[in-house]
Amino acid sequence: MESIPNKEYSYNGTKSPIFTVFSNEPLLSTKDKLFTLETLQKSLDLKEIMENFASLVASFIRPFNIRFQSAFGFFSLSKSLPSNFTRNFNLDSADHSPRLGTMTYQSETPITATEDKLLAELHQLLQPTLKHALRFSELSSMVYKDHLTNIGNRAYYEETIFHAIEQSNRTNLGLSLMVLDINKFKPINDTYGHTKGDQVLNAFAQVLTKSIRTSDFVFRLGGDEFVVILQPSASCSVSKVQQRILQEIDKNSLLKELDFSASYGFSHWEIGTTASQLFDQADQHLYQNKALDRAQR
Ligand code: GH3
Ligand code: MG
Repeated sequence: MESIPNKEYSYNGTKSPIFTVFSNEPLLSTKDKLFTLETLQKSLDLKEIMENFASLVASFIRPFNIRFQSAFGFFSLSKSLPSNFTRNFNLDSADHSPRLGTMTYQSETPITATEDKLLAELHQLLQPTLKHALRFSELSSMVYKDHLTNIGNRAYYEETIFHAIEQSNRTNLGLSLMVLDINKFKPINDTYGHTKGDQVLNAFAQVLTKSIRTSDFVFRLGGDEFVVILQPSASCSVSKVQQRILQEIDKNSLLKELDFSASYGFSHWEIGTTASQLFDQADQHLYQNKALDRAQR
């Protein structure tokens, strides 16, 4: 990278022997621009792009506390600098589609006119990559979402359990899986209609979401079958979640009115267990509990 000596830009734009503030000449050389584009295009992940962008800003100008806010994503990178001065930039996409978002820079000293111009040039290079990343994250959330209940779908479950097992392998974090299936769901559909059945699926998805911690995940695999991933998980975690599920069902007027219940099975991950083994163990446990439930009907 062709680096720009910091002294030329730091704290006082008038120091620059080369550039005047009002010049239309770009401050970044072609080589700098290429390097910037290559760095930004390394990833489609919003967080990584913004981290790379923050490093570029730090190397071309100076470090800032940086925040990016858009309708689709939020990024914040604090360098723990005093935030005496704040400068906002609105990022627009070239094709007049909705605004990409707002970049906020905070620093101890004001942003000089030269720094301002450099930031505007860097934003121009950032915008196309950012636009793709935002679109990508929007599409990913569509691909991974169960559209009836708005929780994760089977594809998202498969991706998440894979990463959860990888993480437990590395960190020794406890990992448990709960598989749940609504009892006598077919009669609900048959008696009250499919729309009511959909409302029940939605209500149960909300119950599950309320019963877990933010580090846990809930998915609908299809039909009336749901899965919960607990990580970190201790030996008592599953029974605690199960108790909370019962309490939340009790608080839900629709589910209470229908005398709703669900059976569940669980498994705990151990070193060497694959995702499908973990699922099969929980599913077998569910099957046994289901048989008990049917015998009691
Ligand atoms: P069990 O107590 O043994 O679990 O039996 P069940 O009546 O709950 O029936 P089962 O789990 O075998 O079948 C689930 C039913 O869920 C069958 C299907 O008609 C219904 N179903 C699947 N997807 C949807 C959906 O998206 N909406 C609605 N309303 N019903 C669905
Ligand atoms: Mg069922």
